[in-house]
Amino acid sequence: MREAINIKPYLRLSGLEPLVVRPETNFVNIGERTNVTGSKKFARLVREGLYEEALSVARQQVENGAQVLDVNMDDALLDGEVAMVTFLNQLQSEPDIAKIPVMIDSSKFSIIEAGLKCVQGKCIVNSISLKEGEQKFIEQAVICRSYGAAVIVMAFDENGQADNFQRRIDICKRAYKILTKQLGFPPQDIIFDLNIFAIATGLEEHNNYAVDFIRATKEIKALMPLAKISGGVSNLSFSFRGNEHVREAMHSVFLYHAIKAGMDMGIVNAGQLVVYDEIDPTLRQLCEDVIMNRGNENNEATEKLIAFAETVKAKGKVVERDESWRNNSVEERLKHALVNGITEYIDQDTEEARLKYPKPLEVIEGPLMAGMDVVGDLFGSGKMFLPQVVKSARVMKKSVAVLTPYIELEKSKASSAGKILMATVKGDVHDIGKNIVGVVLGCNGYEIIDLGVMVPADKILEEAQKHNVDIIGLSGLITPSLDEMVHVAHEMKRRKMHQPLLIGGATTSRMHTAVKIAGQYDNGVVHVLDASRSVTVAGSLLNQEQKPGFLKQIDSEYQKLREDFASKKTSKQYISYEAAIENKSKIDWSLFTPVAPKQKGALTFRNFSLKELIPFIDWSPFFIAWELAGKFPAILEDKVVGKEATKLFNDANQLLNQIVEEKWLDAHGVIGFWPANSNGRDSVSVLNENGVEGEVVHLQFLRQQIKKAAGQPNLSLADFICPEGNNKQDYIGAFAVSIAGIEPHIKRFESQFDDYNKIMLQALADRLAEAFAECLHQRVRKEYWGYVPQESLDNTALIKEEYQGIRPAPGYPACPDHTEKHKLFHLLNATENTGISLTESLAMYPAASVCGWYFAHPESKYFGVGKIEKDQLADYTQRKNMDAEVVERWLRPVLE
Ligand code: SAH
Repeated sequence: MREAINIKPYLRLSGLEPLVVRPETNFVNIGERTNVTGSKKFARLVREGLYEEALSVARQQVENGAQVLDVNMDDALLDGEVAMVTFLNQLQSEPDIAKIPVMIDSSKFSIIEAGLKCVQGKCIVNSISLKEGEQKFIEQAVICRSYGAAVIVMAFDENGQADNFQRRIDICKRAYKILTKQLGFPPQDIIFDLNIFAIATGLEEHNNYAVDFIRATKEIKALMPLAKISGGVSNLSFSFRGNEHVREAMHSVFLYHAIKAGMDMGIVNAGQLVVYDEIDPTLRQLCEDVIMNRGNENNEATEKLIAFAETVKAKGKVVERDESWRNNSVEERLKHALVNGITEYIDQDTEEARLKYPKPLEVIEGPLMAGMDVVGDLFGSGKMFLPQVVKSARVMKKSVAVLTPYIELEKSKASSAGKILMATVKGDVHDIGKNIVGVVLGCNGYEIIDLGVMVPADKILEEAQKHNVDIIGLSGLITPSLDEMVHVAHEMKRRKMHQPLLIGGATTSRMHTAVKIAGQYDNGVVHVLDASRSVTVAGSLLNQEQKPGFLKQIDSEYQKLREDFASKKTSKQYISYEAAIENKSKIDWSLFTPVAPKQKGALTFRNFSLKELIPFIDWSPFFIAWELAGKFPAILEDKVVGKEATKLFNDANQLLNQIVEEKWLDAHGVIGFWPANSNGRDSVSVLNENGVEGEVVHLQFLRQQIKKAAGQPNLSLADFICPEGNNKQDYIGAFAVSIAGIEPHIKRFESQFDDYNKIMLQALADRLAEAFAECLHQRVRKEYWGYVPQESLDNTALIKEEYQGIRPAPGYPACPDHTEKHKLFHLLNATENTGISLTESLAMYPAASVCGWYFAHPESKYFGVGKIEKDQLADYTQRKNMDAEVVERWLRPVLE
């Protein structure tokens, strides 16, 4: 009698060759690079139809030790089914790749099915889950089984991803039971993906993710020994993007523990795993603590790892350096230093050039200008980016500083391409943009006279005449500055000046310049979009041949804009103020129960921990400030600017660390909450529990008056506070935060001719102020007001404002009246509590300050008031109890 063959219940996969996962099999590496969502390069190759090259990515993974190949074509720009089939078919004819089994990876089952039809051997499907209920799950499992495939089952159910220990166990048990009991699925063909999430993100609720994964692995292996455990490993270290060294170490340490607990396989970048024992012991210990969540109260372990990561980056840079340029001629060295922004040798090279040239001035006009020309050309043609140019400027300034004493001795002066005066207008304190434009123009040979911030019109024009400048440039960030610019233009005409006027800054626009400013002055008014444009504009204005034509062209452009503006204005329809109130947001207040804030009155935070703010930073606006286009973090890997963006980001983090470690800056903030009800129209009465006893402060809000489509309300922020008469006590809150102490450091950088770090510091202070606002807002929702105590959102979700409630800022589109800031400051006693002062234009000083109201209602949202009509203005003037003229001046942006 023939003995029955005892086939052991192992997971048996195959490509052209078998892969049997036995109990003694080591961890199975699944190559991750052939995934369009994870690899930019692979995605591009597939998108461009370069399948040959795409195959080479697969080959590399095999050569690097991948035992299974994960293939994913989930990209919005691709026909996933076609891409999957094309790639898999081509792959079958490459024996050195096709020898290993494929993992067909998609979130669309139709793509999986298309893939299943073309693979040979026994593959893995990645993935199915209970996400859309049992029926879908069963259907899909049956199809996979009919093709003989093993399946990855994601720990996911109708309620979402399993993100703690117990949910992982419950979901896997349920899925296992359905598969094995109901469908007869071989248990060894079931692979659970237990969800590897990012840790060390700065959010405490993420700190235990790795521990939960590892514990769940152990438990599931005990309960269902034949099933396998897998996961996508690189997710773990997502918050260390750009720092491969640290990421690899984290992955190794994680796998060391997860494999011990029974993890069988994982999607990894094959070839990028380091050996646990070979990790630098310091780094290994830091990773251990973060992954096992030890000594990590208040994110301490996380912070340590972040700090270490920064030093690794800094070291990395030194190692990469190529010093061969030091052997070139002094002219070449100067050029190299300028183009590459290297200050290290500039003093000695400048001195060498000074001795070589007959006159020090000739060093400037010769090699230095030649170097800056190269910089200018590269910038102009988009081959160099703003951060690099600013670094070049730093080199130039340092070199000139070495030469200056000798030049003055000779009583001569370097000739310049022209003199440009720049100033931030009266009442405004914002000057990053202006500083950047100044540096860029300086790089292009212009002499810059920078009058700083809050400069009155008289001062600007007197200095312009005194220095006989060629161009005047004005900058401003807040809306009242627009008016001030109109005033300056008007004054220039009265004084019969001749210089062209440049307009720039965040609230300025071509439209506003054309409609409001250009008409005030006849000798040229030009809006300049950004620093790179400023160079060409200045060039055209200072070239006497080009100038008339250039101004004529601007004039006709602006004429067209004025016409557009006029016709838009008349084409829009407005409704009466009473009709707009009638059409307010229809919130059913009977369904709303206001939550009384846990914190009564105001609460001040002095010297708030800067470290705690870092995880809340929204980096995208930082790159905008540096004129690098793209969203963070994708920008770090952008094809065009990725390299520079990464360098800039590393520099930023290094300076940020120093700021934190050496306590350069102080974060002060105040929040407050008060009982409030609206009058059902446009006013909110706030009972000030903080100040004078029983004092009531009336906040006045504006309402949209444009004629809306049917069913769309005419919004006012007052709509989001419960009206009196509903017998419900509602509440409103407010905040003001500020980053103080920047001045001495700015002065120091200026004295070192270091514009790069000066601008960097300003940009970082702004980021910290915004992060402070974000951080406090979250604590307000969860704790101090406490209307969503359970909220759990990561930084991306916070940036996308996925939370309940808003924090509109006075002066912004939903509440454009800056003068309401007086009330906000009064309620919070903000100046005393935070040190923020208001200028005459109601800009906040320090510039890195943010304030706003807190609204908690789930329907509250941001909008723009837009243009209002005379009937609302009259009503508003009366409510504000101010002179019509004054109110009109402040409301100009919504009147015109
Ligand atoms: N993450 C950004 C946040 C600042 S911009 C950063 O770090 O720069 C978003 C803020 O601008 C909001 O929180 C709100 O305070 C303000 N804001 C945006 N749109 C607004 C509107 N329509 N009305 C009033 N305030 C608005």
